[in-house]
Amino acid sequence: MLSPSLLIRNGTLITLGPDPKVRTGCSLWIQNGIIQRIADESGFHEPFEYELDARGMVLLPGFINLHTHLYSAMACGMEGVPPSRDFVEKLQHLWWRLDKALTPEDCYYSALLLLINGIRHGVTTVFDHHASPGAIGESLEHISSAVKRTRIRACLCYEVSDRDGAEKARQGLEENAQFIRYCREANNPRLRALFGLHASFTLGDETLEAASVLGRELDCGFHIHAAESPADQQRTRDRHGVGVIERLHRFGLLGPRTIAAHCVHIDRREMEILGETGTGVAHNPQSNLNNAVGIGDLPGWQQAGIPVGLGTDGMTMNMTEELRTALWAQHLRAGNPSAAFLEVCRTLLLNNALIAQRHWDLPMGELKEGALADIVGIPYQPRTPLHDRNAYAHILYGISQEPVDTTIVGGWVLMHNRKLTIDVDEAEAAARCRELAARLYERMGA
Ligand SMILES: [Zn+2]
Repeated sequence: MLSPSLLIRNGTLITLGPDPKVRTGCSLWIQNGIIQRIADESGFHEPFEYELDARGMVLLPGFINLHTHLYSAMACGMEGVPPSRDFVEKLQHLWWRLDKALTPEDCYYSALLLLINGIRHGVTTVFDHHASPGAIGESLEHISSAVKRTRIRACLCYEVSDRDGAEKARQGLEENAQFIRYCREANNPRLRALFGLHASFTLGDETLEAASVLGRELDCGFHIHAAESPADQQRTRDRHGVGVIERLHRFGLLGPRTIAAHCVHIDRREMEILGETGTGVAHNPQSNLNNAVGIGDLPGWQQAGIPVGLGTDGMTMNMTEELRTALWAQHLRAGNPSAAFLEVCRTLLLNNALIAQRHWDLPMGELKEGALADIVGIPYQPRTPLHDRNAYAHILYGISQEPVDTTIVGGWVLMHNRKLTIDVDEAEAAARCRELAARLYERMGA
């Protein structure tokens, strides 16, 4: 369904895009999911069905989360998880126990609650990476139902792995293929698909080859964890005699439509491969710090020509919180409190859109005519002058501290005055999610 005609009046625009501009007293006219016109008040004579007053608000392009796990909602507050000495133990003690016990209904409610949380934080597009070995055949269908209900934009995939044996790997391959075909046929403007793979160290050659062949047939990119911890590199080198990135490249899995998450432990040659292939890298600093796996060389990656964006890896749906953490981490890594400001800001505020629009084929992440109408409104009275040159700093230090008021995806208002306008009773959904979480913990023995 095409979105109605909507006029947003009197906002202060921070356009973002390659050359961010601040424009005051502007109105935007949206129709059919696209920003049709931006001008001052007097410039609008078109009939419009809805009108929003954005006085006192800054309007920004909606935030994009380049890598997350919507199935992680039920991990919040879980007890009985033994302490882990390293990242692989963390997977064994927590995530692989949790994902194995998920039912299709768990996948649905987990996704629904986190997508709602995303709307509350101005997220308009999510790249999800899903695992539920006990519910493979129904998982993406259930998550996409939650996506449709919330009206957010999402690119989904199922993470294929050999960790649970050949039959689960086969089912994972099939789940991706089916969902990619479904997305093509349904042509829902909010839904996209990638081919999901867990990580090199849990994928044998046979499965990677099968994924590569299927991916080529389906003409799609991949979404995979790469070199997140030293273990992925070590085990890949021990078993296959090459590093993670080179191995993925040999199987033809890299390219502009592929997203490699993390890449914390890559060497110079691997950076060159990612740069040469145009592969998008999703940096997830809060997760990397939480798992004690290290801090990625963000400036080095960007110097190598890698398009680096920002994800949250299930840690939060608050993208400005992730952005701030990314900067503090780079300061600590460099031992320099002035390091990497632009490199960090460009992950969320420029590159996420450049990577995402490879999948939506329309301009995203910029308030300009012809771009997708994914917009957030945040009440903000700047206490210092706000202009083109310091817009990033205002977002990082000022706007990030204010609650999002309005979230619009494809011209549809999903939240206004902090009230959700989507067809979901949030309290009821959360209550059901709590019931399901309690049962999940019983199945896990947690
Ligand atoms: Zn992840």
